[in-house]
Parts: sequence; structure tokens; C-alpha cells
Amino acid sequence: MDRQLDAYEPVVGASAISQLRQLAGDLKGARVVHVNSTKEGGGVAEILDWLIPLMNELGLETSWEVVKGEAPFYNVTKSFHNALQGNKVPLTRAMLDTYEATLAENALRLRPILEEADFVFIHDPQPAGLFDLCPNRKGIWVWRCHIDASHPQRKFWVYLKSLVSKYDASIFSMPEFAQSLPHPQFIIAPSIDPLSDKNCPLEDAEVLTTLYKLGIPTDLPILTQVSRFDYFKDPLGVIEAHKLVADSVGARLVLAGGGASDDPEGAAVLEEVREAANGDESVHILELPPDAHRTINALQRASALVIQKSTREGFGLTVTEALWKGKPVIGGNVGGIRQQVHNHHTGYLVNTPQGAALRIQEMLRDPARAGEMGRQGKKFVTENFLLNRHLREYLTLMLGIRRGLTNHLIAH
Ligand code: UDP
Repeated sequence: MDRQLDAYEPVVGASAISQLRQLAGDLKGARVVHVNSTKEGGGVAEILDWLIPLMNELGLETSWEVVKGEAPFYNVTKSFHNALQGNKVPLTRAMLDTYEATLAENALRLRPILEEADFVFIHDPQPAGLFDLCPNRKGIWVWRCHIDASHPQRKFWVYLKSLVSKYDASIFSMPEFAQSLPHPQFIIAPSIDPLSDKNCPLEDAEVLTTLYKLGIPTDLPILTQVSRFDYFKDPLGVIEAHKLVADSVGARLVLAGGGASDDPEGAAVLEEVREAANGDESVHILELPPDAHRTINALQRASALVIQKSTREGFGLTVTEALWKGKPVIGGNVGGIRQQVHNHHTGYLVNTPQGAALRIQEMLRDPARAGEMGRQGKKFVTENFLLNRHLREYLTLMLGIRRGLTNHLIAH
């Protein structure tokens, strides 16, 4: 037992691990269920991948369930995602019917485990409607919102609010994302697993072999953006920025991404990205399988700097991953990227392709400064965005809500 947690001691310190064990002591045997909409692709799956086994190792009986549907369901949930992040999208009764019918089918399968659980964490809007479909709930239900829903399309928010208001609490990644909801709201920033294939140390030879296999020459500095092919990640803006610097400071641009099984827009975005690159041999567009974690690790390590030019971002784990590898980041001036990229310290925040181009030039011309920013970034992630802090906040939240609710019941 405890083998996995022990492995983190050299990275985060023995006391951090012992603190987790101590906190978890009071939660031993608690049945915890996390529900999201995909096991592959995107930041939520990335987090649940390590969170579930570590919670189990700490003695909480934790499982990971996924809501499943057909293409129309994912089209609707992607519309939800886009509208909650501010895009204008029509909301029709037919869309809600599709959403509600698919969740009702899922509830038939999930109800026994969800109704018996002591804690249910529902991640993002896709499974939010399960609450009403589990009328014999015994435990505490928490809605965990990973996206930037601070400026949502009103109709969508009104509908979602009617679903999530009934939960016992919600969690957002940043204070700016909190909503007017009739229950306690907690702020928990995401984190990365420093020992996963995505983030573990790699030998230089593996990094070089990866580049070789992918056909990326090492003649010029490499700029990388790793993301699902999604408009909010602005891959087209990144290509524009790269074009603007191509003549002044030569660089290779790597756009690495794959689909998430719950994201139906990827193929269309990828097509546009290919068109925008227009055969430019210094742009490397990589469509990666969902388990290409070591490949992404190598690409991030091979980069002179990492870009995440999102126009909306819940948190941006790709930024955390890059900073952890000592790479300065040029990031869109939005959402969780603002928590991680501090101008002149860990990278630069930019609003336009022109701004990104300017900062790319600046960094490539001053590698010593870029290296110093990378070192600051790694320190910042070590102190704030590794999994031990995240796990600790989950445990304290669970203890706190359980105690709070018990007191509330006693008081009444
Ligand atoms: N990712 C991946 N393969 C891809 C694209 C992304 O493994 O082709 C990972 C990436 O390394 C990061 C996560 O998916 O860990 C994306 O999380 P982020 O918070 O940056 O964005 P999200 O996709 O959740 O909006």
C-alpha cells in the first residue's frame, strides 16, 4: 500500500504526503464518485487519471464514472460549453430534449452507485442533470466547474443554474468564475502530476528521438502549443503569430493536439488549421492519439518556449505542464492562464497575434532571460500547482462540507 504516494515524497516533501494521510484518516471508507464525460482528452480526464488512484490509496473508496451518449448529445454539450464560455449559440427545446434523454439513459446505469455514494463530484455541465435523476441521494453532491463560465450566454446559464443550484456546493478554478448560487462555492485551482508520463523527467536522447520520429528538425528554435483543436485555443492566431516572426527570428511551430471523445468540433478546426498553415514546412501540425503523454512531454521539453494563446480558458493545464518543465509561456490574457503566466516573470500574457509575435521575438533573442523566466515558472508550479496541494484541498473541502452539513442538521 501507499507505494504511489511515497513516490511523490522526493518531489513535494515527506511532510506534504504525511499531511494528506492525516487528513484522509477521517474520510477512510467514504464512497466517492467522480463523474465527467470522457476518460480521454482534455484537462479533466488528465486530473481524474491521478486523483482517483490516489484517493483510493488514501482509503477513500473512489470510482470514476463517465456519461456516454451519441453524436447529437456531444453536439449539444459542446454547444453548452461554447455558450457558457460566451459564444452566441441558439438554445432550443430539441437540444434540451436530447440532453435530458441521454442523461436519463445514463442515470439508469449510474443511479445505484451515485445514490449510495457519500460524496459525488460532478465535473462540468455535461453530467450536471444527474442530480435530479437520482432522487434517493444519500451523500453530498458537489458541482465542479472547470470552464470559464463567468460571462455565459444567459439562456444557457439559466438552464444550467436550475440544475446546479440544488447541489450542496460548487467548485470553481478561480474567484472570478464564481457565480450567484444558493450554496457554498469553493475555489480550487487544478494541478499536475509531476511523475506522470506527461510530466516526468526525460533523457535528452528520448526528446531527440521523439523529434526525429515526428519529422521535426532541430535547426531552429521550437515553439509549441499543445491543445485540443478548439476555436477557444486559437490555433489560427498562433499560426498568424508564427508567420509574423518567421522572417525576423526563424522558428519552427508545433501545433500538437488530438480530439477528446466528447468534442465533436475537432475535425473542423483541424481542417482550418491545415488551410491556414498552407503547406508551410516550418509549421508541424501533429494529430496525436489520446495516450501520447510522453510525446507531449518530449515536445514541451524540446521547445524554446510554449504558447497557449487561448481566448477563453478555465485553467490551462498545458501552461502548468510547460512551466513545470522550465519553459516560459506566452499565454492568452484570459482565465486560469492569468494565474500562471505573470508578465516578465514566468512568461507574457498577450491579447493578439501581433502581441504574441512581439513576445516570441523578444524571448528568442534573449535566451538567458527566457531561461530565467522558465526557472521562476518551475518554482511557481512547484509551490502552487502540484497534485499534493490539489488533493489536500479536496480532502479539506470534503471534511468541511460534511462537518458543516452535520452541524446544520443538528441545528435544525
Ligand atoms: N492534451 C493531450 N493531448 C492532446 C491535447 C491535450 O494529452 O492532444 C492534454 C494536455 O497535455 C493537458 C490537457 O490535455 O494535460 C488539456 O488541459 P487544458 O486545461 O490545457 O485544456 P482543456 O482541454 O481541458 O480545455
